[in-house]
Amino acid sequence: MKKLLIILTAINLLVVSSVYAQKPKNYNAAEIQLSLQKLKVLGNVLYVAAHPDDENTRLITYLANEIKVNTAYFSFTRGDGGQNLIGPEMREDLGVIRTQELLAARRIDHGQQFFSRAVDFGYSKHPDETFKTWNKEKILGDLVWIIRKFRPDVIITRFNTVAGTTHGHHTASAILAEEAFDIAGDKSKYTEQLMYVDVWQPKALYWNTYWWRKSDFQKDTSELLSIDVGKYNALKGLSYSEIAALSRSSHRSQGFGATGTRGIQKEYLQFVKGQNAEKDIFEKIDLGWNKIEGGKQIDLDIDQILSDFDPANPAGILADVLKLRKQIAHLNDDFWREKKLDEIDEIIYGITGLFIEVKAQDYTACPGESVNLEIEAINRSDAKIILKKVNFKSLGVGAGYNFELKNNVTKQIDSKITLPNSAVYSQPYWLVNEHGIGIFEVKDQQLIGKGENDPAVIVDILLIIEGEEITISKPVIYKRNDPVRGEVYRPFVIAPPVYSNITERVVIFANHATQEVKVDVKSGKEKLEGILTLNLPKSWKIEPSSYEFQLDQKGETSSFSFMVTPPDHQETAKASAMVTIEDKEYNYSHSEINYEHIPAQLLFYKNEVKFVKLDLKRGDEKIGYIIGAGDNIPKNLKQIGYEVFIINDIEFSDKILDDFDVIILGVRALNTVDRLKFDMDKLIQFAHRGGTLILQYNTSHRLVTENFAPYPMQLSRDRITVEEAPVTIVNKSHPLMNFPNKISEKDFEGWVQERGLYFPGSWSADYEVVLSSHDPGEESLEGGLLVAKYGRGHFIYSGYSWFRELPAGIPGAFRIFVNMISIGNNPTAK
Ligand SMILES: [Zn+2]
Repeated sequence: MKKLLIILTAINLLVVSSVYAQKPKNYNAAEIQLSLQKLKVLGNVLYVAAHPDDENTRLITYLANEIKVNTAYFSFTRGDGGQNLIGPEMREDLGVIRTQELLAARRIDHGQQFFSRAVDFGYSKHPDETFKTWNKEKILGDLVWIIRKFRPDVIITRFNTVAGTTHGHHTASAILAEEAFDIAGDKSKYTEQLMYVDVWQPKALYWNTYWWRKSDFQKDTSELLSIDVGKYNALKGLSYSEIAALSRSSHRSQGFGATGTRGIQKEYLQFVKGQNAEKDIFEKIDLGWNKIEGGKQIDLDIDQILSDFDPANPAGILADVLKLRKQIAHLNDDFWREKKLDEIDEIIYGITGLFIEVKAQDYTACPGESVNLEIEAINRSDAKIILKKVNFKSLGVGAGYNFELKNNVTKQIDSKITLPNSAVYSQPYWLVNEHGIGIFEVKDQQLIGKGENDPAVIVDILLIIEGEEITISKPVIYKRNDPVRGEVYRPFVIAPPVYSNITERVVIFANHATQEVKVDVKSGKEKLEGILTLNLPKSWKIEPSSYEFQLDQKGETSSFSFMVTPPDHQETAKASAMVTIEDKEYNYSHSEINYEHIPAQLLFYKNEVKFVKLDLKRGDEKIGYIIGAGDNIPKNLKQIGYEVFIINDIEFSDKILDDFDVIILGVRALNTVDRLKFDMDKLIQFAHRGGTLILQYNTSHRLVTENFAPYPMQLSRDRITVEEAPVTIVNKSHPLMNFPNKISEKDFEGWVQERGLYFPGSWSADYEVVLSSHDPGEESLEGGLLVAKYGRGHFIYSGYSWFRELPAGIPGAFRIFVNMISIGNNPTAK
């Protein structure tokens, strides 16, 4: 019995969290009719792939809305390693955005969403490399857990298991799906899960084939099952492809806006495992009530309700729906009883025109604080409904009432809750603990798989509807009116009382000089008094040692300066700004992600910042920088004392260019800066007259010009994805490795994300090779750093990922980059 209770709670929360901080769902007559039709279907399908946006939204839309099976997308990652086309957020923050975009997509296509703990750590060529980083055992367990919890009849993968045809994460997702299919039903596997769930054996696994890499796959569809996912749904007034396009367009950070299509649209499935089908993946799978003991009568009763349903008077079926609810409540099948009770409660909420909302006075509150709440409840039907109780389960408090909700008369209840001192902050659960590069640390088994945190506070409202007790769960939300957007909802979250942000993400000390470091302190509540310190290892000197401060209003910010003197030697340290309030220490930063297409997200990271003292010699070259796709390198070069000028919008006249010693092209400048089609030669001539021209990586396709180098050179797709891949200095005596900084293999330690990408694949003998490196088991690549003398100057092409390493404060990357800048002043290079 205990086990049953735990499962029930988990399922309930899933339902609540799907409407977290959104405008409340409306239940028009068509939605109610569709929900009644769905009540007849008892089946589940799980779609499996690697990243947010891998999923086939059309197929998911079709299965969820036409077949009306519960359809979920299991994405192994949250897309942290991808790009962001709408703002500056990267890594964990981008993962939060893409998580929310997936949840937004599922609200449109009516699917559900699950994740594993895997981190999207960037590109990998082979699934073996993916598994090495992910911890295969744990990630496989996450999929097994969701299969046991969600109980899919059918699993569909986006990718197949042939290595080398696509991203390693993609292939890994298909391999894991097949392995999970084999063991989810095995009681001897992942036994620690069995205190919460039973084992489950899905019936079949299919691969949702594709031909976008034409050469890899045969186009003969005779052996495949096909589904027309382009059908039109009159109740929605849209085809499934049109709905899918709306859903797909939620992936704004990826620039995946999609245009709807109409008409026949085929999807193909290739049988992989389990029970094969001839025509239809569900032909041997019972999706109806017949498979449940006592289900036959329920099915007939739903038919009767459907035929009695009058769109003009939805509440007309209430008595029969309540009767049906009683029958379902008596079923022995725990899984379907709870799922169908949730569905039927939503239907009752819809047909009675109920609207219940619990609004907080502000969108944050701290542990121990009191929060004023406003509960609005209204019934828009003739049904007799009594509001009996309001229960804050997680707080252990509630209040009894006896209000009748009369037809179309708003009832407002003012309420006040006090958050316990032990309340946890609403940081996304996968970001609470520090994590490695491959897997998020999530200790609570019950959290694994969830799209996002459950609402900070859930309110259970007990209603008596025509004599029947029904509990409606609602999250506490915050809403306000925006003069432009209208009604704007956002999640209510539990937050720290104070935030301290070190304003730089990485603080670089290029020499021994003392630097000013600023810390902003922001109050999370009223009347705050505390002491601020900057914590660093003893080798760093800090003045003053602390500040006492007072902030009267919530949201008030004050800025404090510390003078920091670095140690003599090269050192990388972690610094944190600590606030002490009544003996309790806080070191949380405050960041907000706020876009219109997803609910606003507040994030409370530990405010740790890297302080780097470099062992660096540099010249005083004047640098011109041409921004490409956007990178942080100009800022990083300023941090170490260079004068850097952005030269995008000025005339490329010889006179102006010759004002610089060095001109650097930002990443992908040859892909994004159209004027280089005409002006690249001016830059090459700048080198000929004695300047240094440095090019960073560009993708090999869609170059604005092929004539970007003084001597022949061809870009390739060669990359080194393993950031620890050993680097050999091929030419130890080369000036680039000696002046002004003596470079050794040690300078390639601690690099992040990758070594480099799109290296030149072939080049003329005019270039000198300096470095060599390769991914494990692959051939050496020597095109990562090529140098040529040209006229009186120098030309350097380097695909090593300086744009990642410099912002991350990697000392060796700074030392080598400075040597590239200094090559024109190097006495031995002239
Ligand atoms: Zn992908």
